[in-house]
Amino acid sequence: MDFSITERNMKSFMCALRGMGIASYVFNKKSIMTLSVLQRTVKGCHKCNLAATRKNVVFGEGSNMSKVMFIGEAPGEEEDAQGRPFVGKAGKLLDQLIERIGLRRENVYICNVLKCRPPNNRDPEKSEIGSCKNYLFSQIELIKPKIICTLGRHAYNTLLSVDERITKVRGIVKTYRSITLLPTYHPSFLLRNQDKIKEAWEDMELLKQLLKV
Ligand code: URA
Repeated sequence: MDFSITERNMKSFMCALRGMGIASYVFNKKSIMTLSVLQRTVKGCHKCNLAATRKNVVFGEGSNMSKVMFIGEAPGEEEDAQGRPFVGKAGKLLDQLIERIGLRRENVYICNVLKCRPPNNRDPEKSEIGSCKNYLFSQIELIKPKIICTLGRHAYNTLLSVDERITKVRGIVKTYRSITLLPTYHPSFLLRNQDKIKEAWEDMELLKQLLKV
């Protein structure tokens, strides 16, 4: 028997895995490993000034194999303290949005454009987004969601390299690298503008339908 790793042997090995129905498991396992390597890299990031004021890096969390990815703006105070995305008041509302599509927080993947908290929750600066966005792009590449739901204008504008107002684009389906992208309001915005909640529920209904396609 020849056990050396040649291209031919690798192809036969993959065929055998597919035959056993476990190829996707092995590939997913590989993705999980790579995501954890990326997480380690981000934890040590000092590319921008936010590294000096953060308590924790907020990489993202949830199911690495999820079909849906929610992308927010940047960690707030509570997220910075816990190192987890959307765990404050806005997070409670995000949980409700997720329940609207018939899923739970742990079934989806949640992250932000920025992995570190801007002081006093100010808007992310262009240069900070520039330093951080490749981490987000890699996360998307590794998780390979079927649908991305961007929360607020920063995630939408970062993925599509545009500068749009969320009130103009919400609920309109786009694509990002062949992945369906649905923009909706940021939960913090919804907390301040309760009259917009109905539109967010409508967006979640659309997201639910898109997941069925
Ligand atoms: N707002 C965000 O954009 N992200 C969080 O994780 C929390 C609040």
